[in-house]
Amino acid sequence: MTVFLHFDRDRCKGCELCVSVCPKHVLALDMASTNAKGYHPAAAKDPAACIACASCAKICPDSVISIEKE
Ligand code: SF4
Ligand code: SF4
Repeated sequence: MTVFLHFDRDRCKGCELCVSVCPKHVLALDMASTNAKGYHPAAAKDPAACIACASCAKICPDSVISIEKE
């Protein structure tokens, strides 16, 4: 199974809820970039470790994350 994580990065407010809920420590804020709202957006730092549990997508209050499985 291959998992694709997509981030609607300009909607992210950097709250880190997704980072805190991920059981595999896949996510982190991208401190090297800033989105249209002026926040460091969430990104996948270790996408290969993702198990597609969708916890991050469910907890995000702004529907930033979508997950595709292949
Ligand atoms: S789908 Fe699950 S394992 Fe993958 S990044 Fe989101 S919370 Fe982490
Ligand atoms: S939970 Fe949503 S808004 Fe908060 S950091 Fe993660 S992607 Fe961004």
